Amino acid sequence: MLNLPVSQPTRMYREIWRRRSPEQIRELAHIKRFLECVMGDTDFRSRAIPNRDALIALAQTRGCDIDPYDLLPLWHRDFIDEQAAMTSDRWGASFRWRTYLGEIVATRDAMLVAGDPGQKHRPFSDWRARQIARTRSELGKNAVGIVHPIVAYELSDGCSVGCWFCGISAEKFRGHFSYDEGEALWRGVLAAMQERFGPAAGTGFCYWATDPLDNPDYVRFLNAYREINGNYPQTTTAIPLRRPDLTREVLALWESDRCVTNRFSVLSVNILRRLHQTFTAEELIGVELVLQQSGALSTKAFAGRVRPEGTIEDLNDQMMKKARSRSTVITEGTIACVTGFLVNMVKRTIRLVSPCRPTEAVPDGYHVFAEASFTDAHDYAAVLDRMIAEHIVNTVPADARLAFRDDLAFERLGRGFQLRNKHVRVKISRFGDLAEMIASGDHTVDQLAARCREANAEPLEALLFIDQSYRAGLLAERTRRLPIAAGAWS
Ligand code: SF4
Repeated sequence: MLNLPVSQPTRMYREIWRRRSPEQIRELAHIKRFLECVMGDTDFRSRAIPNRDALIALAQTRGCDIDPYDLLPLWHRDFIDEQAAMTSDRWGASFRWRTYLGEIVATRDAMLVAGDPGQKHRPFSDWRARQIARTRSELGKNAVGIVHPIVAYELSDGCSVGCWFCGISAEKFRGHFSYDEGEALWRGVLAAMQERFGPAAGTGFCYWATDPLDNPDYVRFLNAYREINGNYPQTTTAIPLRRPDLTREVLALWESDRCVTNRFSVLSVNILRRLHQTFTAEELIGVELVLQQSGALSTKAFAGRVRPEGTIEDLNDQMMKKARSRSTVITEGTIACVTGFLVNMVKRTIRLVSPCRPTEAVPDGYHVFAEASFTDAHDYAAVLDRMIAEHIVNTVPADARLAFRDDLAFERLGRGFQLRNKHVRVKISRFGDLAEMIASGDHTVDQLAARCREANAEPLEALLFIDQSYRAGLLAERTRRLPIAAGAWS
C-alpha cells in the first residue's frame, strides 16, 4: 500500500470518533435511531407525544435505549424554541447531538477544499473553482451541500432499483464490471487519477446513475481504491437489504477505517422498519438514512424523473398532488455533485461534468462539457490528458463571441449594470457599455477590445473585466448538450 498522507476531511472525521467514549457514541446511535423513527415513520410520529413515560415506552419498541423526552427540541414543534437554550446541562442529549452534527457538517465542508488539487493541477483547480462559483450563483442555497468531488466511477451499466424520484434518470441495469476481469484496468484508472490530481482524487466515489451494491465485487473495488487513494470512498445505496452480507462487509470497512459517513436511501416505511430490525443502532451510527419514502419529511430535487416538462413554477397539478401525497417538498436543486470526471467502467467512457440548474435542455442537473471512450488503462490516461488539454479552458478565446449565462437577466443601470436571477444579484457601477455588448452575444473579445480603443477607453481594463466575469462563472460556456444561445463560443 502506498504511504499516502491522511486527508483533512478523513482526519477530522476520525477525530469525531476518537474524542468520544463508547458510551457517548452509543448515545448518539440511539438518538439517531429515535429521530429516524420520528422523521420517517408517520405511525411512530403520530404516537410520539411529549410525555416522558410514553416516549420511553415508544422508543423501546424500536430498540432505542434513551430518554427521548430530552430530545424534544430536536423534533417537537412545541419545543423548537428551546433549541436556543440547549446546553450540556439543559436538554443535554439534544445539545450533544447538535454538536455532533456540527462536526459532521464541518467534515463535509472540508471535502470541498480537499477536492482542490491546487498546484498539483493548476488548470483543473482554476476550472473547478469557476464551476463552483457558477453553481452557487445558479442554485443559491440549493448549492450549499454540494462538495464537488472530482470523480465518480460507475461499476455497473445502469441501476436495478428504478426509483421514481431518480434525479439523474438512471437507465435500466444491464450488467456489472467484474473485478476478476477488470482489476488491472481499475487500478490503472485509479492510478492515473492519483498521478494527475494527488489527494483530490480521494474525494471520488463509486456510483452515479448506478447502485454500488448492484456489483457483487464492490468491496474488492473499494479495497483497491483504499490502497491507491489512502481512504475509502463514501457508499450510497438504495438496496442495503438485498444482500445483508455485502452490506455488513461495507459496514465493517467503515468500522475499521472511519473515513466518511455512508448513506442508505430508504424507499419505504417498511424498509425503514426492516433496516431497524436487521441492523442495530450501533451498527448504523456511520450511516445516514436518507428518508425518501412516502410520509417522510424529505425534499426532492426538481431534476431527472421528478422533472416533468416546464419549470418548477408550472409544476402540473398531478405532480404536486403526487409530491404532496408523499409529503415531499420539491426544490429547485440538483442531486449531481461531481465537478470533474464521470467514469463508467463497463462502457469505458469518461465525461467531463459539473452540476447545474436543471432545465429542459439539461434535465438531469449537470452539464456535460466533453465525452470520450477508452480501451485500456494506458488509453484512459491518454484520453484523460487530451480531454483536459482541450476542455479545461481557463482563458476566454479571443475569437469567441461572449454572452452572459442565460439564467442571468441583464439590466443597464446608468454607467453600470446588474445581472440577476432569483438567487443572486451582481451589481457593478462601471462597464455598462461593455456589459451591454456582452449581453447582446454578438461580439468577440477582440471586437470588444477594438470598440474600447475607438471609444478611447482602456482595452486592458476591459480584458480584465471579462476575465473576472469569466472566473466568477457569469459568462456562458459551451457544453456538449447545450449550444449557447446567440452563437456564443462559436
Ligand atoms: S436514485 Fe440511485 S438507486 Fe435510485 S434509480 Fe437513481 S441511481 Fe438507482
